[in-house]
Amino acid sequence: MSAGEVTLQSFLDDQVQFINDLIAKGVSEMPAPSELNGTPCPSCKKGILQERNGKNGAFRGCSCYPTCTYTENLDGTTSKKAGGTRNTSVKREAIPISSLTEEQKKYGCPICRRAYLLPEGRQWVCSRGDDCNTVCADFNGQPVNYVDPKTGDQYIAGVKKGQ
Ligand SMILES: [Zn+2]
Ligand SMILES: [Zn+2]
Repeated sequence: MSAGEVTLQSFLDDQVQFINDLIAKGVSEMPAPSELNGTPCPSCKKGILQERNGKNGAFRGCSCYPTCTYTENLDGTTSKKAGGTRNTSVKREAIPISSLTEEQKKYGCPICRRAYLLPEGRQWVCSRGDDCNTVCADFNGQPVNYVDPKTGDQYIAGVKKGQ
């Protein structure tokens, strides 16, 4: 009978308890995940975008509010309060897949999964234009939400969904 073994065992028990406590704490502090509300905040990268209802209708805001005030519209476009809203009267024509270069076929549209996200300013727009009407925010030079056309895996803020 060795006192050393007892100490090691109780040390390990403490570690397990500590980790279990951490997991329980983390789970209780995390907002319930749902397929649309689980997008990580592209601004602070800590919060999760959650659907909220505002004066002008539903929008997504960061769960770290008020520390982080990032918001975006439900279609993924970012709201700009000071008159910088995008002109929705501009029609986006669909671009045929056959006219896209290989470079333009890196990021599949996560909504229709039939077309590709193309860079437009600081955001990404589905090549089907208004037919799909998907606009994604930029995340480190990639769409914040896209499908890898080769594997079919969906990536949100650089993280493979379901991993
Ligand atoms: Zn945030
Ligand atoms: Zn699309």
